[in-house]
Amino acid sequence: MHITIIGGGIAGLATAFYLEKRAREQGRDIQYSLLERSDRWGGMIATESVDGFLIEGGPDLLLTQKPAGIQLCEDLGLADRLISTNNDRQRTFLVRDGKLVAFPEDFSLVPVRFWSLATSPLYSFCGKVRMGLEVFVPRRRDEGDESLASFIRRRLGVEAVNIGGAMLAGIHSADAERLSMQCAFPMYVAMEQRYGSLIKGVRAMRKARASTGTAIFQTLVGGMGELVDTLIAGLDGDLRRGVAVGSVRKVGGGFEVVAGDEVIGTDAVVMATPAYVSADLVADFAPDLSLLLRGIRYVSTATVSLAYRKRDVEGQHDFEGFGFLSPKHEGRRITACTWVSTKLNFRAPDDGVLVRTFVGGAGQEDLVDLDDEALIALSREELEDLMGLTADPLFARIFRWRRGRPQFDVGHLERVAEMERLAAQVGGLFLTGSAYRGSAIPDCIVQAVDTVDRIFGEV
Ligand SMILES: Cc1cc2nc3c(=O)[nH]c(=O)nc-3n(C[C@H](O)[C@H](O)[C@H](O)COP(=O)(O)OP(=O)(O)OC[C@H]3O[C@@H](n4cnc5c(N)ncnc54)[C@H](O)[C@@H]3O)c2cc1C
Repeated sequence: MHITIIGGGIAGLATAFYLEKRAREQGRDIQYSLLERSDRWGGMIATESVDGFLIEGGPDLLLTQKPAGIQLCEDLGLADRLISTNNDRQRTFLVRDGKLVAFPEDFSLVPVRFWSLATSPLYSFCGKVRMGLEVFVPRRRDEGDESLASFIRRRLGVEAVNIGGAMLAGIHSADAERLSMQCAFPMYVAMEQRYGSLIKGVRAMRKARASTGTAIFQTLVGGMGELVDTLIAGLDGDLRRGVAVGSVRKVGGGFEVVAGDEVIGTDAVVMATPAYVSADLVADFAPDLSLLLRGIRYVSTATVSLAYRKRDVEGQHDFEGFGFLSPKHEGRRITACTWVSTKLNFRAPDDGVLVRTFVGGAGQEDLVDLDDEALIALSREELEDLMGLTADPLFARIFRWRRGRPQFDVGHLERVAEMERLAAQVGGLFLTGSAYRGSAIPDCIVQAVDTVDRIFGEV
């Protein structure tokens, strides 16, 4: 049996890894080809080392509450390469009327302690009272999806939409009014149902985490690229880079995958490509599926990493914290900034400081098309204004992710279920990756494992 996996991002790579593993365990002879359009593996995972700095162009952290990412690292023998964020220096700021205001220490979306809410300058008196009343807000009875903004308004009040809501929407570069709660934050939906209150739920979760001592975020010493390099080094299949699949034809019980002049006959196809690419590839034999895939919106974003010499920034800012978020209504041209070298070790030399700004996303996509000089300039202007940072960086690295972030609009999971039904009707066709059931790396890995389960169940 031969399977073709299209797309060499984490979704395609993890599918290949677990396919090989399962075939080995079950003694099945399964051949596969993994085809990647660009000349490097990893898709949005893009790690570069420059003059002692380790730059992440895309993802930089694995959320440990979604254990599939850590599990894959362990399966690859990378457990001793995992590092946690420097939580003793964890403080996050929010841009508020042009100034950086710290989130209270133990509180992001909801307060864990009464005192941290009472003393926070982020909320008005009424906003605080409303938030404190969250414990009395009844559970939602309707099982349908709702937007992030609606969820937060209902549970925590209007003010929280512009604070905690902005923070959560930022993770997906999304508009809180459109973002599906069930797809993007199922944990909070489940928490409401289980505890009847987010405040109670977050407290219980923190207690459980404190007892296991697990950090919320981890990564690898060598950055996320280490995950990709290790995956590639261990895979035995037919791996090809620089091969763009132009079309897929359904032929008898199998498929023909066309890449340039080459036609690969195959029994099954896994599309680990962005939904709009998959939409084109299935258009001839599954037009209804193609239409649904095309309906998944994407937004464009960019990251700008700025590397400094420590002595050049001394006295300008202390970088005590993980960085800041800038909600849309503040009208800034960056949506966030991470103080990378505070957040993580092994990211800058001893005499270096590394920061990374985020540009674009819902409502600000045009900025991504600015040229490099303009992107660097706008990042520096914002950092000067907000942090007093005027030093010249040693260098800057820009990564643009055009149509890189899938948008999970309300009702997304229902549409995905329909896509999966239509794909199953074709037979031997599998959709996987960040467009469907969550876009974080662990979500992609969970879906890869599920795809392998379905392959073994079907073919
Ligand atoms: C700036 C940024 C920060 C992020 N931070 C985090 C984070 O800290 N933690 C986290 O968990 N997630 C994070 N994410 C999200 C996460 O990185 C992505 O959702 C995930 O990497 C997507 O993986 P994927 O394999 O689904 O898609 P991709 O990585 O996009 O891979 C798809 C691949 O398909 C290839 N392809 C496309 N068309 C074809 C074709 N015709 N033929 C062959 N190949 C094709 C592409 O070249 C690409 O390599 C971040 C994303 C961004 C942009």
